[in-house]
Amino acid sequence: MSSIRQDNFIAIIDCNNFYASCERVFNPKLNKKPIIVLSNNDGCVIARSQEVKDLGIPMGIPVFKIRHLVEIYDIQIFSSNFSLYGDISNRIMSIIRSGNSEIEVYSIDEAFVTINPRYTDPVEYATKLRNKIYQWTGIPVSIGIGKTKTLAKVANHLSKRGIGKDNVCLIDSKNDQNLLQQVKVHDIWGVGRRKQKFLKINGIYNAYDLKLANPQWIQKHMTVISRHTVDELNGIKKIELEYENATKKSISTSRSFSRMISDITTIRNAISSHASRSAEKLRSQDSFVSSIGVYLCTNRFRADLPQYRRYINVQLPIALNDTSGIIDAALEGLNKIYKSGYEYKKCGVILTKLIQSNEVQQSLFHPRREKDEKISKSIDKINQAFGADTIRYAVQGQNESWSIKREKLSPSYTTNWNEFLSVET
Ligand SMILES: [Mg+2]
Repeated sequence: MSSIRQDNFIAIIDCNNFYASCERVFNPKLNKKPIIVLSNNDGCVIARSQEVKDLGIPMGIPVFKIRHLVEIYDIQIFSSNFSLYGDISNRIMSIIRSGNSEIEVYSIDEAFVTINPRYTDPVEYATKLRNKIYQWTGIPVSIGIGKTKTLAKVANHLSKRGIGKDNVCLIDSKNDQNLLQQVKVHDIWGVGRRKQKFLKINGIYNAYDLKLANPQWIQKHMTVISRHTVDELNGIKKIELEYENATKKSISTSRSFSRMISDITTIRNAISSHASRSAEKLRSQDSFVSSIGVYLCTNRFRADLPQYRRYINVQLPIALNDTSGIIDAALEGLNKIYKSGYEYKKCGVILTKLIQSNEVQQSLFHPRREKDEKISKSIDKINQAFGADTIRYAVQGQNESWSIKREKLSPSYTTNWNEFLSVET
């Protein structure tokens, strides 16, 4: 049964220009300078500092198209440094968690929390939290507050437009008419392009119009999800927070190669690395796997080249969570689907049929691999302490020649011993 408490406020904490802000944290010279972060293979813009947004450079644009602007405005370019962003994100989430157990990490730079009613002034709580996150991590955040997730999202949108105070905006029954009227329907969480068209045709232009719409009529002509949006704009909770420790039901790791690859050795390296990473994720949620999917495909955008794509599922006789067992199974799958003579662009590993460790059944013919499980756990500890892949399996290869290009990578200041920030005295 759903047990949504109607009375508590919900806040969304959203980091401002997150990747660009992360690059700034350890390099104060970048303050006020325009910054962009590029996608894998240094292709497209995936994050922009405010200065870059103000220049009108759109998200997703290939960097070669804006070379002239990079020159003129001295735009600083970075390859995406996900280990740095992930680590800073973890720090921010644990600051949020320390004052509030009811948290949903919504993305790398966003979290919903149910504000504990002991904080009688939600704006004061949010302002303190915002200041604490900035002081402890250097990352600026905006916070939106409302009785529902949808209202919190709308408030957050407004806070980024400077409405509210100190990047904190609250919507409640006293101010909602004024605030909701300033938000266009397409800026409401869950209203996509197709839905906005329908709403506008029917005279519903802003969030306040939608709040006043007849919920039955919306459900009949749109979907029940849209009806929930209307209810949520009226302060009625319909979308629950998904609290933590919801364990994943499948784990997938894949990546495009930096170039086309045809030899089996390099593809074995890549599959092994994906399998190893997946095994790590599996252990971090204390699960076991009993079925492993492996896939391999050529570049579908190169119609001039022969095309091939295959997926295979390897059933395991017993549930595993050790890296060597998972690599073996993934390579067995690869051997069955690999065909020479093709130029491959991408491969991946998907762990399906996950179970929790206390549900693992013993099998007479296949005893549990306790020794391998212990080895994997020790490797996890070492890699957590000394940086990812400090210890890796030989089959992963010496260097990741297949891996993405990251020429403009900033150092992994917080996650790699060799790249800690040093202070000269
Ligand atoms: Mg953000």
